[in-house]
Parts: sequence; structure tokens; C-alpha cells
Amino acid sequence: MNTAFSTFIAVFAMSGVLSVLLALYASFQKTRFTGMTLFIWMSVATAIYTFGSSLELASSSLAEIKFWISFEYLGLPFISPLNLLVVFHYIGRERMMTPRATAAFLVIPFLTSLLMLTNDLHGLVYQSMDLRADSPWPLADFAMGLWYVVNGSYTLGCGVVGMWLLAMHMRQTLNVYRKQTATMFVSLFLPIGASLVYILNLTPYHIDPVPATMSLTNLLYCWAILSAGMLTSTPVVRENILESMRDGVLVLDAAGRLADYNKAASQMFPFLTPERIGQKADQAFPARRLRPWDTDMTFLEAEDRQIEWLADDGARHYRFRSSIVYHKHGGSPAGRTVVVLDVTENVLLHRKLEQMATYDGMTQIYNRTHFVERSEKLLIEAWEIGEPLTIALFDIDRFKSINDTHGHDVGDCVIRHVVHACKIYLGDRDVFGRYGGEEFALCMPGRSLEDAYGLLERVRRELDSGPVMTPSGPVGATASFGLVEARPGRPLKRLTKLADEALYRAKQSGRNNVQLAAGEHIPEPDAEPLPTGKDVPAKSVGD
Ligand code: GH3
Ligand code: MG
Ligand code: MG
Repeated sequence: MNTAFSTFIAVFAMSGVLSVLLALYASFQKTRFTGMTLFIWMSVATAIYTFGSSLELASSSLAEIKFWISFEYLGLPFISPLNLLVVFHYIGRERMMTPRATAAFLVIPFLTSLLMLTNDLHGLVYQSMDLRADSPWPLADFAMGLWYVVNGSYTLGCGVVGMWLLAMHMRQTLNVYRKQTATMFVSLFLPIGASLVYILNLTPYHIDPVPATMSLTNLLYCWAILSAGMLTSTPVVRENILESMRDGVLVLDAAGRLADYNKAASQMFPFLTPERIGQKADQAFPARRLRPWDTDMTFLEAEDRQIEWLADDGARHYRFRSSIVYHKHGGSPAGRTVVVLDVTENVLLHRKLEQMATYDGMTQIYNRTHFVERSEKLLIEAWEIGEPLTIALFDIDRFKSINDTHGHDVGDCVIRHVVHACKIYLGDRDVFGRYGGEEFALCMPGRSLEDAYGLLERVRRELDSGPVMTPSGPVGATASFGLVEARPGRPLKRLTKLADEALYRAKQSGRNNVQLAAGEHIPEPDAEPLPTGKDVPAKSVGD
């Protein structure tokens, strides 16, 4: 046999073997890449074509040649469209390739296969097929039919579109995937180039070189699989990254118009619809959804700003991070990207922690730590502006016996009642805290000793005025108070100690009364005489 012939036969056969191997490899990696099934079919089609070509060359009669050509056409017309479909999947556009779209792509190849099988009846693919007179081995000579041109154009069209998509994709994709993309590009280009060589009649005896290029593309695929993780690690397309981000992204052009937004952004801000594209972004945000201080929209340009968004189902908190995008060449600003993070959970958690760190859970007044913090600040302020400030401590009388007689729950009920009764008389500036179990503290900036004494008296009388209605019936509860006035240089610790001593004296002198700290002057009250030093036992609480 002629050496050129045997070389072609061997190369074609090798293409077939490589295609089978690729199909087998791909079928084991099926789950890694959505286009894998298509890739398998493409490899099968290539194997049919290249084996058929090899056997066509090895044929010894026109009848045999015709048989193998018809066989080749079971694969050949499908290769290019399947390759294009694989490209669609590869570049992350698989959503466009619905089963219906995929089927539509394969209509012409199916018709080509069918027409080739029935070519003798109509001659649409090959008008005529004869043996060449000049070749040393039986080789067919053809006259193209109408459908041959249709199929050829379709094959070429698929190849060109595939290459164009890959070239566009190459610009967006990460460097690591360029080897894979280039391989796919070459695998589309080589058959087209080889077809050109064939049309220009540049091969010996006008042998079709396309099957030979298949072995080259198959080898390239093998190389890319081994060296670049082809088919197992498909590129992450930048566009898809944006779309699948959980954070919202707004893209603004240099004039501040909305140029793009991702899915997460449209979920956060339902007014973001395609019609908004091109509108001024700061006009797109409805002011009624924003807090008044955010309606100037400066958050769209802030490096880091948090806003409260009044959604239909309650307030959401969003963090805006805006950064300028510069033109690649020239460095002038091209626009902005604004990343929006939903921080509602964090804000609510933070508020809850703040609440827990500040307030007492049972009574919702300040806890001891926060009371001390606030009072220390107020004390310094009072010294600075020379304003009076008084501190009081008070404790529920014989509370143990309330607990013992009625139970802890009733005790809690009494504690809440005392807090409520006290709050009735407190002013805006008075700071009220739970100092211990059933012991409370007041810091009263702006209140003189006399004023504070009057206030405590009113609270004391309120408690003394009647029993608390509890689930276990009415329970009487009174309290004893110790009061001290701040003096410049006296720290809070000292003041609370003095108030505590006064409270102790109030307990000693029979409970249910207000005592001033040692050395403090008790101003004569204007109203009815105040009951000091007189034990007034709680009406309904047994001792
Ligand atoms: P005194 O008039 O001398 O103050 O007598 P008392 O019985 O009130 O004595 P004391 O102030 O020492 O009693 C504090 C009691 O308060 C002890 C504790 O069991 C109870 N207590 C502390 N915190 C709570 C609370 O949150 N709920 C209830 N139900 N009881 C508490
Ligand atoms: Mg007590
Ligand atoms: Mg106590």
C-alpha cells in the first residue's frame, strides 16, 4: 500500500481510538461539568467519523467506500454543533441550552445523516460518487450535492460561533482557565482550517485531512485534561460570580446612572427592575423607604455606610461599600461598584447584646453596671456645671418574708410593682437602676437634697398606700430609703456608701422611711409631717 495512504489510515484510526478514550474518560467524570454528556456524544461522533474515514481509505471497492462514507455521516454532521453546545456549557451559558434548544441545534445533523443514508435516491448530499482514476488505491471522487453545501455551511457556522464565544470568554476568564479555553478554540479551528486545505485541493489524491486533525485536537484535549484539569474544573465566569453573590451589587456609570445590578440587589431593593437601568441611581431609591438623614443618598458614594431600609416586612439594615472603577487605560473614573451587605441580623444581635448589657431583664431598668457608668458621668458633669446631684438607695422591706410566704414568683411581681411605682414620680433626667436583688439606686442630677427627699417620700407613700395585686392575692410592700447629696470631690463609691449607711439607719429606725446620710441637713418639709423613725409594717405581709 502507498505510504501516504497507510499513514492517513493509521492517523485516522488513532483519532478514533483517542475519541473512544476521551468518551470513556468523560463518562467517568460526568458529574463534574454540566456539558459532559454533550462532550461524550461529541467524542462518540468523532470516533464514528474517524474510524469510518480510516475504513473508507482502506476500502477496495466503490461499494465499500460508499458504505463507510454513509457510516461516517452518522457522526460527522454532529461534531461541530455538539462542540458548540459544549462551548455554551463551558462558558457558563448552559441555562440558554434548554433541551429544546439543544434538540434544535441537532436538527440539521439528523437530516444530514438521514439524507446520506438515502443519498442514492436523491443525490442531495453527493450528486455523484466515482472512483478516481489517478490514485494508486481505490479512492472516491465526488460531486457535491445541495445538502452538502447546507451541511458544510452549518458546520462552519457552528465552528465560527463557538470560536467567537470562546474568544469573548477568554477576555473575561481567569488566567488559570486560559489553557482549557485555548484548547477548545483550537479544536474548533483545526477542522475548519483542514476543510480549507481540502477545498483548496492541497492534499495528496485529494484525501480529506479533517479526520487527521481530529487526532490532533484529541491529543490537545488529553494534554489539557492532564495538565489543566480540563472538563473537571470548568471556569468560574465572572458574570456568574456577580449573579450568584449573596451580597447585592450595584454598578453605576460615571454620571451616577444605574448600569447594572445583581440578583441579590434586586431582592433587597424590589424597585430595581430592568427599566431602572440608565436612570440616576439616587433617584431610583424611594425616599419613603429611607431614614430622613439618608435621603441625600450619599451612602451610594460612601466608602462604608450603614442605612436602615424600611421594607414592607419591617426595617432592614444594609451596609453600603462603594468603590470607584477606573478605565483600564487612562485611569479616569468609569463609574462605581456599590456592594450592599445585609447586616440586619448583626444589628439586631448587637442591639440585643447592648440591651442585655445595659438593662435588667426582669424590670427593664438599668442594671448596676450601667447605672454606675451613667451616674459617674453625670456626677462629673454636675461638678463641672455646679449643679446639685443626689444619690439614693432603697430596699424593699422584709422581702424575704414575702418570698417565704407567697413564693418567688409573687416576690418578682412585687419587685416589678415597686419599680413601676417609682417610675411614676421620676423625671426625664433621673437615672434608675436595679442595684441588687430587691435593692434599687437613683441618681438624680439637678435635684437638690430637698427636692430628692420630696420625690423619695412620694414614692414611699405610693408603696405604702395599698397592697400590690399579685396572683396569690394582695401583698403589702414598703421600702426604706437612704439619700445623699453629691459634693465636689466625693466619688460615686463614697456617695453610695453613705447612701447605704443611711438606708441601714432607715431599716434600723423601723423601715418604710427615708434617711439622709450622716451630716446631711434635713430641710423641714412644707407638706404634712413626714413619718421618720416610725415603723410602719406592711399591711398584708406577715412578719
Ligand atoms: P429587710 O427589710 O431588712 O431588707 O429584710 P429583707 O427580708 O428584705 O432582707 P434582704 O433585703 O436581705 O432580703 C433580700 C432577699 O431578696 C433575699 C433574696 O432571696 C431575695 N431576692 C433577691 N433577688 C430576688 C429576685 O429577683 N426575686 C425574688 N423573688 N427574690 C429575690
Ligand atoms: Mg430587703
Ligand atoms: Mg436587700
